[in-house]
Amino acid sequence: MDKNWNKLRQDFPILAEKMNGEPLVYLDNAATSQKPKSVIEAITAFYQKENANIYRGTYALSAKATEAYEGVRQKAADFIGGEASEIVFTKGTTSAINLAAFGYFLRHLKAGDEIALTAAEHHSNLVPWQQVAALTGAKLVFLPLDKKGRVDLKEAEKVMSDRLRLLALAQVNNVLGTEQPVKELAALAKKRGALVLVDGAQAAGHLPVAVKKLGADFYAFSAHKMLGQTGTGVLYGRKELLDQTQPLEFGGEMIREVSKTTATFKPAPQKFEAGSQNVSGVVALGAAIDYLNAIGLDAIKDRETELGQAMAEGLRKAGARVYGQGGGIASFNLPGVHPHDLATALDAQGIAIRAGQHCAQPMMDWLGVKAVARASAAFYNNEADVEALIKGVQAAKEFFNGTR
Ligand code: PMP
Repeated sequence: MDKNWNKLRQDFPILAEKMNGEPLVYLDNAATSQKPKSVIEAITAFYQKENANIYRGTYALSAKATEAYEGVRQKAADFIGGEASEIVFTKGTTSAINLAAFGYFLRHLKAGDEIALTAAEHHSNLVPWQQVAALTGAKLVFLPLDKKGRVDLKEAEKVMSDRLRLLALAQVNNVLGTEQPVKELAALAKKRGALVLVDGAQAAGHLPVAVKKLGADFYAFSAHKMLGQTGTGVLYGRKELLDQTQPLEFGGEMIREVSKTTATFKPAPQKFEAGSQNVSGVVALGAAIDYLNAIGLDAIKDRETELGQAMAEGLRKAGARVYGQGGGIASFNLPGVHPHDLATALDAQGIAIRAGQHCAQPMMDWLGVKAVARASAAFYNNEADVEALIKGVQAAKEFFNGTR
């Protein structure tokens, strides 16, 4: 695909929209990405040509829909370096982590076992573990972070005991954009007999992912953060672990045989997909993966990092305090201005950023702030967007200082 980034921009119809009378500058990609025409068209084409409920093999249309759905399972597996039988379609990262937490770990952890996390986790990779710990008597331990929010390997080793049974952490942090040394940490955790679950919500679609190389036993990600639809995500699990994972939902399609009092289930991954599935969402995920692969994940990572760095540098020059930058993410505050006020002032100029706690309250405590503003660029943003953000922040600063 053409690496002319500004040309790629034209694939995203929403970027031509106006907000509050100004051209839209969308810099909240870490919350959800925008969608290229090919993804939007794949959804429409599915409903125009292939829609039927899947696994109703008695007619050709259903077979077509099933093929479309199952084809994406292989595509998703190739995307992260797993096998199709290791890919479970879920509603998103949150439901993927909950499936691993309550389907597997709830049944395999016992009192005194340890779960290692970091203070930088999104609530969806924290609260499920709090619940599992409360139900099993397992203990949560937190790996120390360095100034950049990165886990320090030497410090981590001191915290990892022989009772460690699970390391669960985000590959890329959603507030600072920090990429964790997952491969090295996974190796340390495995030495102690632990399994590794990686929250890939901010990584998938932003850098190349290879679950086996990373040492991930479970890997969770959301389609909507990587050009696909909301309500669609993936839990990758090593085959033998998925075999030992209990479904959390029971009903149609996940069963093999049902009598009035008992039921047997299909093998993984079908046993986890009870009821009518989000077929168009999965089809959209397939189109999103095709689009990302055509550009190349290495190129996307470089481009997003370039934009992220430019934002951080410009924000600093504009007088903002930047807490961290990684990939396309930069988090900051304007001294004396609440981030919500800043975001509202930017919105009036058509600039969309996020402000608040970012579903990461322990991370806010770690930063020593109540909330931060976060700008997050995707590869389809450009230098003009970065400039608009900086100018917008500058104008907001003058406004709130009463000099404008
Ligand atoms: N983990 C991280 C690091 C995230 O950024 C997010 C989304 N903000 C999630 C988990 C949850 O993803 P979802 O809301 O799509 O389930």
